[in-house]
Amino acid sequence: MCGIVAYTGSNEAYPILMKGLHRLEYRGYDSAGVALMQSGSITLYKKRGKVSDLEDYCLTKDTSAHAGIAHTRWATHGEPNEQNAHPHLSEDHSLALIHNGIIENYLSLKKELQNRGYVFQSDTDTEVLVHLIKEVQQKDNIPLDEAVMLALSRVEGTYALAILSVDNPDQLILAKKGSPLLIGVGDNEYFIGSDGAPIVEYTNKVVYLEDGDVAVVSLENPLRIRNIRDEHALLKNPHYQRLEMTLDQIEKGGFETYMLKEIFEQPKSIRDSMRGRINLKKEVVSLGGLIEYEQKMMNAKRFIIAACGTSWHAGLVAEYLIESLVRIPVEVEYASEFRYRDPILYEDDVLIAISQSGETADTLAAVELAKRHGATVIGICNVVGSTLARETMAGSYTHAGPEIGVASTKAFTAQVTVLTLMALSLAQRKGTISKSMYHQLINDLESIPEKIERILAKEQHIQKIAQFVATRPNAIFLGRGINYPVALEGALKLKEISYIHAEGYPAAEMKHGPIALIDEHMPLIVIATEQLTYDKIVSNIQEVIARKGTIISIVTEGDTTVKGMSKFCIEIPRTEELLTPLVASVPLQLLAYHVALIRGCDVDKPRNLAKSVSVE
Ligand code: GLU
Repeated sequence: MCGIVAYTGSNEAYPILMKGLHRLEYRGYDSAGVALMQSGSITLYKKRGKVSDLEDYCLTKDTSAHAGIAHTRWATHGEPNEQNAHPHLSEDHSLALIHNGIIENYLSLKKELQNRGYVFQSDTDTEVLVHLIKEVQQKDNIPLDEAVMLALSRVEGTYALAILSVDNPDQLILAKKGSPLLIGVGDNEYFIGSDGAPIVEYTNKVVYLEDGDVAVVSLENPLRIRNIRDEHALLKNPHYQRLEMTLDQIEKGGFETYMLKEIFEQPKSIRDSMRGRINLKKEVVSLGGLIEYEQKMMNAKRFIIAACGTSWHAGLVAEYLIESLVRIPVEVEYASEFRYRDPILYEDDVLIAISQSGETADTLAAVELAKRHGATVIGICNVVGSTLARETMAGSYTHAGPEIGVASTKAFTAQVTVLTLMALSLAQRKGTISKSMYHQLINDLESIPEKIERILAKEQHIQKIAQFVATRPNAIFLGRGINYPVALEGALKLKEISYIHAEGYPAAEMKHGPIALIDEHMPLIVIATEQLTYDKIVSNIQEVIARKGTIISIVTEGDTTVKGMSKFCIEIPRTEELLTPLVASVPLQLLAYHVALIRGCDVDKPRNLAKSVSVE
């Protein structure tokens, strides 16, 4: 989950590394560190806290160097402090190493190394790597890349690594298994990153490392990549690709935070998700990446959706969409539970894995499991070239553009858009949707961006509601039917960025327990748009009011009944019931955002969280 940046070339490394760390900070921000190659020796600066804390610390230091590695950490082993921050050094200070991932057998390796006299400076799992590699290199007197390959053959777990060595000052050794790493190739200079964000400013020629790859990046020789799974350790031809990212996509563009920028980008990102997927006459929906597997999907006995966090909520919305439109049963699974549950999977099952980053470790494990059982595996992700995109048989990109804010917003609505298109395309081919319903949904889907613009114009009104919610320690979000996942997502947004305890429930479940929580201090945010169960939700609201709960409602424009029962009300444009999550989730994002701002929270980097959860 950490962010890795490295550089070697004729330019000053430090500014490139720091800028890169800032761009990767969404991946982890409990501590940061940099190792610089200075006159043949390694200088190390580390600091607890954010990248800016490291930068402040380095203001008075000598940072001139032409090669270096830098890291922003999201701790898995050992508390977030200076000692545990990366890079980690070998005992003779000849090697510096940064790592993203988890070394699962680190305890036994650590014991072995300690028995042989090594003294550890940190509590991390990572530190075993640097000692092990150094030991292998010294013992066998072999080049560093070979030592890395040998040492890694003893390592269980996941890693993306970058290593700096005093023996070859302008050289970087990289290795990857399970965590992402890519090399940006410039004009006799190299930019390494956990994703394209630290690279895009300098070059768009990249090589995505594959699992098992060990690469030697140096200024004297061409890029050398070998794979530890290849018993002959043959050199591979680097596969150069174009980085699909632009610089302004990853900058704030006048907004105070990335999250606000991304909330306001939704009309555009939803249009981008739909672009080229509905034909001009609106008669056919087609997702290019799925064409080959469409028949398999239509004949599926069952869909299993595996995802985590917000993507799991998008999966729940898809359950309603697919079951109602395509009439194929859907099960939605937390990827982390699914992978360890010994699930029953058949060859005619289709697993849909959803992940914004395409690097979510648990979701990738669910993909592997489903593949082993012979199921068809489809991926939905936002990051082009990510592991999920490569490991699935077919799939669809959400095309939302880079999402930097840790709390997912535009990626969620883009996922729901793609899942809606997928359901419509299958329903149309399978004949499970009437022509009129199909056209109604397509027309409404096309009008969603404009409807979201109208909701965004209500930001000031939502800000006022946020003043009220920000004073409460708890909140309950309620919805029914396809708006139940919206309630879950609303609660998740509020808790993750404002640290207010929030729960999402299907409104009718209140009576089975949570209603005991209601008193005059409890705000209830209820999604009560026009839908089949509108009257039922009105009764649920009455039950809450009878217990003095405060109602904040999301209703369809023109509603009077629920509005009359609410302390605050947000009206949203009339939308087909199956498409309401796309509009109803937006005011909830804005509400969470403003509550967090009022409470002085860092919305783009909420505590304890990281954007791309590439560890289990
Ligand atoms: N396991 C390493 C640590 O705790 C790296 C963590 C990560 O990749 O998030 O320092």
